Amino acid sequence: MSTSQVPAAGSPSDAALVLFSGGQDSSVCLAWALERYARVETVGFDYGQRHSIEMQARQSVRAAIAERFPHWAERLGEDHVLDIRSFGAVAESALTADRAIEMTERGLPSTFVPGRNLVFLTYAAALADRRGAVALVGGMCETDFSGYPDCRRDTMDAMQSALNLGMDRAFRIETPLMWLTKAQTWALAKTLGGEDLVDLIVVESHTCYQGERGQLHPWGHGCGECPACELRQRGYEEWDAAGREALAE
Ligand code: ZN
Repeated sequence: MSTSQVPAAGSPSDAALVLFSGGQDSSVCLAWALERYARVETVGFDYGQRHSIEMQARQSVRAAIAERFPHWAERLGEDHVLDIRSFGAVAESALTADRAIEMTERGLPSTFVPGRNLVFLTYAAALADRRGAVALVGGMCETDFSGYPDCRRDTMDAMQSALNLGMDRAFRIETPLMWLTKAQTWALAKTLGGEDLVDLIVVESHTCYQGERGQLHPWGHGCGECPACELRQRGYEEWDAAGREALAE
């Protein structure tokens, strides 16, 4: 585990912008940021996703956090949704077109949208500049993952340098989940907000690639069969079987 490349947390008076999709990972990131920053805004991207259910989950998670965590509610600022559908059209993949989810000849899942996080971060940094936020918080993760090259911390470090040079700012790209397994992400949720936050994330966040809410499983809503559901289920069950501990600090 290497934490040396993760930028230091900022002053509590700072503002953060969370890249927020309404999924499990970015919901934990939102709670993480609310615990650390005086003002936290969220940004989501409409790049032509097949499932607007993700967009609904974003609002449900935000509303539930505001209702059930009053000390976070006062820090939770505006939500922004940016239309980047032209990027979705260029980067057509299984997430944005009617294609099966499978491994491609490059050894990447067909759900990979080339350079997606680079685009997200560029838009987020431009927005953060206008909103006075110093930290960009995202759920990118190298562990337990499908090998998306734009989720690597090295990519984030390079992107942070590029953004700061190109915008003459000192943004920090913070990735609290970078070295955590999916089980540890549930543990982090418990550390941040107890079983109440775990329950909120189970019920309100959305991860399923098929855009299915369907039945409520112990680990959340979803089809239970796509790679995203499998990953979420496996992580939850691993954490549950290990005694639902909070993350050791
Ligand atoms: Zn699914």
